[in-house]
Amino acid sequence: MLDASCSWTERKACPACGQSSDKNPIFSQALMEFRRCASCNSIYAARSPQQATLDRLRLDQIALTEAQGDRGDREFEFTSLLNWISLTEARLVRKLDRVMDIRFASQALAWPEATDRLSHNRAWEFLLLEPDSNDFAGLRAAITRAAPTAILMPAELDRVANPEALLVALKEVLPSGTVIFVASSCADGLEYEILGADSPSFVPLDRLTMFSVKGFEDLTTRLGLRVIEVSTPGRLDAVILDRYFKSAETSTIPFWSSFFREADKNRLRDLQILLQRSLKSGVMRFVLET
Ligand SMILES: [Zn+2]
Repeated sequence: MLDASCSWTERKACPACGQSSDKNPIFSQALMEFRRCASCNSIYAARSPQQATLDRLRLDQIALTEAQGDRGDREFEFTSLLNWISLTEARLVRKLDRVMDIRFASQALAWPEATDRLSHNRAWEFLLLEPDSNDFAGLRAAITRAAPTAILMPAELDRVANPEALLVALKEVLPSGTVIFVASSCADGLEYEILGADSPSFVPLDRLTMFSVKGFEDLTTRLGLRVIEVSTPGRLDAVILDRYFKSAETSTIPFWSSFFREADKNRLRDLQILLQRSLKSGVMRFVLET
């Protein structure tokens, strides 16, 4: 944000449903301004930096994580992603044997190794892009080369400068009938509804656009992508809210303060299941088809 060479683009409309920004209330978090769309409930940074700048920052972050040797235990997440693909494959009765994983300069380091170990029935390709232009020329070329039957994009939608441009690039370069798995944070999550900008999962620059379910459905449908499946399988909303309300310096919020003060493990589990089933968890997954 302090880098004078970085130019920022004002976002004149909601990146999901297209409603004009002057209708969407503004709030700030960690020196950045965000808007919450009054029509579709998506949250988005009022201004976004260039994609190349974001990619460079991520490459620096990876170098740092690698230097610290911090690979983290993400086994549960890996298994969950692989199960997601297997279940969809079974439901569509279609072989998804070549999957391309797209992460813009923010590769989960243990993920390729995990697919080696856990996923024997399909070929994997990992695309780690160098700082790219806003039209994703590098991405287009790599996809044409690899000709995948499915794309997995588990982390990048909320971080790219222009999510619509990314989806357009995918749509234009992928043959019709290709399946795209997208996971992203979800603005409908109860955590964001209750805590708004105070939510601990609200990380500026990592969260430039947080789509609502409706907003993302609007956008993908407008771009001519078919929505095959929507879910919000997040596991942590109840735990995060519980931690927030049980900490000392919390202001009182009607209903929720006492709900969490008195909550035991069973209540938290029940709430989490309810959130998942009613599409109100902070993580969403979409299966799309070109
Ligand atoms: Zn909107």
